[in-house]
Amino acid sequence: MQETINITKDRINNEEISKILLDKWYDWKWQLKNSIHKVETVEKILGVTFSDKKKQAIKTTIEKFPMSVTPYYLSLVDTDDPENDPVFKQCFPDIRELSLSNCDMSDPLHEDKDSPVEGITHRYPDRVLFHISNVCAMYCRHCTRKRKVGDVDSIPSKEVILKGIEYLKNTPQVRDVLISGGDPLMLSDDYLDWILSQLSEIPHVEVIRIGSRMPVVLPYRITDELVEVLKKYDNIWLNTHFNHPREITGSSRRALKKLSGAGIPLGNQSVLLRDVNDCPRIMKRLVHKLTANKVRPYYLYQCDLSEGLEHFRTNVGKGIEIMENLRGHTSGFAVPTYVIDAPGGGGKIPVMPSYLISWSTNKVILRNYEGVITTYKMPDDYKHNECDLECENCNLTLKTENDDLEYKTIGISKLLSDYEEEITLTPENLERDTRNSGDAS
Ligand SMILES: *Cc1c(COP(=O)(O)O)cnc(C)c1O
Repeated sequence: MQETINITKDRINNEEISKILLDKWYDWKWQLKNSIHKVETVEKILGVTFSDKKKQAIKTTIEKFPMSVTPYYLSLVDTDDPENDPVFKQCFPDIRELSLSNCDMSDPLHEDKDSPVEGITHRYPDRVLFHISNVCAMYCRHCTRKRKVGDVDSIPSKEVILKGIEYLKNTPQVRDVLISGGDPLMLSDDYLDWILSQLSEIPHVEVIRIGSRMPVVLPYRITDELVEVLKKYDNIWLNTHFNHPREITGSSRRALKKLSGAGIPLGNQSVLLRDVNDCPRIMKRLVHKLTANKVRPYYLYQCDLSEGLEHFRTNVGKGIEIMENLRGHTSGFAVPTYVIDAPGGGGKIPVMPSYLISWSTNKVILRNYEGVITTYKMPDDYKHNECDLECENCNLTLKTENDDLEYKTIGISKLLSDYEEEITLTPENLERDTRNSGDAS
């Protein structure tokens, strides 16, 4: 940390400013107030000069997709070669953001479409995304909600939040609420505390998850006071968003330690980004540093089809290559799940190398990470345990306190179940259906 202050001090050749910096640097509100929005400020701080042409291109980009970087995050940029720096690329505009590809979509994940009430995306049966903030400490250039960045930097009012809470109260199948944004930790401690208390009063909400990039872009937000608030609730998990090992600094480590020390399970969601982290060695280094700080790598996302992200996207093959380099090669709990968030609101689909090579009626053929091909022989007498949902008749005798909700199957698990009639999942509007005369028999 001392290093970053020194770097910043060197760069700003003004004693007065550096004195203020030393006093205020660790104050998250100061960091936000002094966030950088202009090319000229970046030039000054990094000690670089962009050509007029480049500056103009950046300004044009900023008009559509604004820039906002915390002094802390900018201080992590390697000034010897900023343009090839993974931190710089995540926070500094690129003219390529303006070139739309024909597959780009403004809302690829249908977050607005799958929204029963303002602020809530309810896609999966038992969990929802609850957007409680439209503000972020930093505008990531690869933001999947780029369409909204800089719209109105606002925090939803209590009335709006209460409508979301009302929906959750009336929707008993929701047992997991993922509060996201924007960044939920942009809210004041008190406001966040109020929302958390509202959520924890809902009996069926078993888990509250916070998605925040603060430990990465503004670790000073993780204050003792904030941790005291979070500590009051015993079902909070927190997922953050480190993309590169360089982002794990002394300051971010201290922030993570405070959170894990408060008993909050920590996870990390990375996005696979071209020329930032699309390298098996970088990703391995990242997951090692994360686990050393008690952060469990959770997802590795294929970059979404949002507008202006084409230059960040990689082949899916690169993601599989990274997974191939992790599984077996390092601790199992350091291996994230590589997912593609399906365009059109299909949700996250895991993608991985194939380990199951073939099978017969009594054997499966597998290969491991070293290329060893092996045989697993299945038992000869394994009988299908027919499930009719009457646990009394089953030798496993699961006895839950009822739950009709739990037995509602959908998708492939419905096809697999014994107690559902369905034997096919059929797309709507099949062409062959239009050819049928109508009197089928
Ligand atoms: C990612 C996501 C979730 C949470 O998914 P998990 O796989 O449980 O982490 C929930 N709702 C929406 C809309 C999401 O995009």
